[in-house]
Formats: sequence, structure tokens, C-alpha cells
Amino acid sequence: METCRFTTSWGGVARCSEPVYRLGFCRFHFDCYRRGEIDIRGVISERVTDQERRREINFHGLPRESAMSSAA
Ligand SMILES: [Zn+2]
Repeated sequence: METCRFTTSWGGVARCSEPVYRLGFCRFHFDCYRRGEIDIRGVISERVTDQERRREINFHGLPRESAMSSAA
């Protein structure tokens, strides 16, 4: 199964594990893309200044442990 191409900036290699919805993104990250929060490569826009929102985008679809260790 193809999975979302979003790669978190927390730790570099962790990728979202959700199934692809559109344009290589899962539903959540496709929605972020449409809102201009991430670009087509899956990089979070500098315009997203809310740290809570950045964290939410970064951690979506990540296995819980890797999200935890990246946050530490
Ligand atoms: Zn995703």
C-alpha cells in the first residue's frame, strides 16, 4: 500500500504512515497542502507560525514512539 509522502522535520527520516488520499498525501496532509500549510514536497510553510499547529502537522501519522522520541 502506498503511504503519505509527508516527512516530518522532527528527526528527518520519519514518514507519515497513513494511506495516500491525493497527490501522494494522506487526507490530513492533503488538507494541509490545500490550506497552504505545506508545499507539494511536504515541507511545512514558514507562514505556519503556530508551534502547536506545526507539531500537529509534523506528528500526524507517525508511530507514537517515534513522535515521543523526536519530541524529547
Ligand atoms: Zn500524511
